[in-house]
Amino acid sequence: MAIRLLAPATINRIAAGEVIERPAAAVKELVENALDAGARRIAVGIERGGIARIEVKDDGCGIPEAELELAITRHATSKLTDEALVRIATLGFRGEALPSIGAAARLTLTSRPRGQDSAARIIVAGGAVGAVMPVAGPAGTSAIVEDLFYATPARRKFLRSVAAESSACADVVRHLALAAAEVAFRLDIDGATSFDLPAQDRQARIAALYGRGDAQAMIALDAVREDVTLSGFISPASLTRASARHQHMMVNARPVRDPLLRMALRVAYREIIPAGRHPLAALWLEIPPESLDVNVHPAKSELRFAAPEAIRSLVIGAIQRHLATPAALGAAPSLRLEPA
Ligand code: ADP
Ligand code: MG
Repeated sequence: MAIRLLAPATINRIAAGEVIERPAAAVKELVENALDAGARRIAVGIERGGIARIEVKDDGCGIPEAELELAITRHATSKLTDEALVRIATLGFRGEALPSIGAAARLTLTSRPRGQDSAARIIVAGGAVGAVMPVAGPAGTSAIVEDLFYATPARRKFLRSVAAESSACADVVRHLALAAAEVAFRLDIDGATSFDLPAQDRQARIAALYGRGDAQAMIALDAVREDVTLSGFISPASLTRASARHQHMMVNARPVRDPLLRMALRVAYREIIPAGRHPLAALWLEIPPESLDVNVHPAKSELRFAAPEAIRSLVIGAIQRHLATPAALGAAPSLRLEPA
């Protein structure tokens, strides 16, 4: 067969396979967009594990009517200039999420920029782009995804149960809500409200998302080395879990699953907790963007650090120092909670 260029709809469907692995990935991309838009309030609705419907509403900067079509075009982004790939400060930058979702599902994007008095809407279904229509709507953006993977049936077959997809979606929203405690967050699953939180400080957000008892027992942690800052909360050796699910890492406000950070946590606790147990942690690392590569995988949850050894020793050292304080050894809880 002769070599030829693929049609854009096909290219988007291929990308969708990488960017939107499962409903939770679509949820993540849409909430990241809302955060990048400077939203103060984000509401997420999930139905049937996100397969039937995902809705993410924000009160962020909005998308001008004239740019709605660009927003759903591949490699179109307002967040990256060609020179800036080495210092990424936004959660998104690849310009792939919306076109990928629009290729695999039916995406309805409605937006009204701040200061504008009317909204506009565009619908993409299985890669087919409709006309931009003026509609009534509040300031901000709403993205509705319906029938995820109807246009990519091969992927649809690999989905797990509705309950499993639902709980993966909820995990993603909780992690993002933890990363951005200063933003009001609401999550509804199949019509029932899971949480509806005001803007909070980090301590209060941990308590609201993961339980007041655990939050109260955790130890506040702070450390700085050169231009890297580590802060957050860790559990004392007496508070552990059978899985590492309760370890949340944020790097430059991005929720990440980073093996280096997890390993650092494991090493820091190795001598003081039984094998098979895992501490709880919520850690925020702030690092100059140029010392970090987030463009490792389309989902952007994996990282490469320019100086991994320095990060590792900063994290291990900080944890061990804080675990050796009176609070960690069983004295008064160091966590300040808002009144109920
Ligand atoms: P990326 O986030 O990598 O730029 P996306 O495909 O997720 O790519 O989004 C494309 C563009 O659409 C963004 O760069 C942004 O300009 C615009 N956009 C998407 N979602 C929102 C939103 N919720 N509010 C404002 N603008 C948005
Ligand atoms: Mg994005």
